[in-house]
Amino acid sequence: MTDTLYDVVLAGGTIVDPDREETYRADIGIDGGTIRAISRAGILRGRESVDCAGTLVTPGIVDSHVHVYQHVSPGSLDPDDIGVRQAVCAVVDAGSFGPHNAGGFGEFIVKRAQTKVYGLVNISRNGNSTNPGEGEVIGFLNPSNTARAVADHRAWVVGVKARASNTASGLLGAMSTQLAKVAAREAGVALMVHVGHGPPTLEEVCAILTAGDLITHCYHGKIGGAVTRQGEMLPAVVDAVRRGVLLDIGHGSASFAWKTGEIAIQRHGYKPHIISTDLHRGCINGPTYSMVKTMSKFLHLGMSMLEVVRASSPAPACALGLGDRFGKVEVGFPANLSVIELVDRKETMFDVEKQSREVTGVIEGRFAIVDGKVHRALPDATAPKAKAAV
Ligand SMILES: [Zn+2]
Repeated sequence: MTDTLYDVVLAGGTIVDPDREETYRADIGIDGGTIRAISRAGILRGRESVDCAGTLVTPGIVDSHVHVYQHVSPGSLDPDDIGVRQAVCAVVDAGSFGPHNAGGFGEFIVKRAQTKVYGLVNISRNGNSTNPGEGEVIGFLNPSNTARAVADHRAWVVGVKARASNTASGLLGAMSTQLAKVAAREAGVALMVHVGHGPPTLEEVCAILTAGDLITHCYHGKIGGAVTRQGEMLPAVVDAVRRGVLLDIGHGSASFAWKTGEIAIQRHGYKPHIISTDLHRGCINGPTYSMVKTMSKFLHLGMSMLEVVRASSPAPACALGLGDRFGKVEVGFPANLSVIELVDRKETMFDVEKQSREVTGVIEGRFAIVDGKVHRALPDATAPKAKAAV
């Protein structure tokens, strides 16, 4: 025992540290929202002690694709229902707002949540609140206003979003993606592009993206995706990844197919850089449910726990300029940590095409620690149901 009494001690968990590529048992001492000590298990004392025996303590999980602009953008959820109550420290709203209604998102969502909330500003002026078709009216797409919205809300706007599929961009095709790229370049942030049914084609989208940009819904099962009908990786995606473009899952209600994931990951070795949920009202009660369940699917596809945690914390944090707040377990770093448990049980998990796999080993959320404050996750069986929104 030591004399120091910390605010919070996470006692006896197994630290999963993707940075150092190691796992080890330890106590973590937290004071003033910062990690102050990492020590052999059983040593540290705290005013509040969280028994982490049997659990995994990971850098704070960041879900890089959700929809949480409640009461404004259809389908949005309460950020805390899919954040701290599911052991997720930070969520990134992917384009539910645009430059015209970004201010409200900051005022009514970011400021009121216990989960850290960030956002990607949609190139379309009111974001997904004009869904579908937000990208098919040229007058809605203004790169200067979009770049200005990034600058005006830089504390929580971390990138630009465009949806490049026929329901969102219509006859304008890749135009909204091109204009979003202009805005992202001007603002100096990453661009996340949703892909789905063309037009535009995935080749057209890839040609616009540069290192650090993200393709979300990368492993959907629709025609024209990252995996060809012949079971090969689309050459344009191979080239984009080589150039530093990042593959982001964005599971959602229509955008993750077991078969695509199996071919891409198991046959060709294209593990996603980032795992995210695209949680909204249309998928929270299945097939997506939660970030931890989505992470479990990638364990099943053969990624290691270190790889799954890397794709769920440091990778999205670094991609979106949040690497100073999330992604590390080290002394002196902000105490943003997730406590999860790999439960040895079987579960039938579905993709968006109603295909199922028997998953053995299911990740469940236990706690989210945000700036040193401990939030208990809800048990899996009582996972939050979609609340009325809009
Ligand atoms: Zn989405």
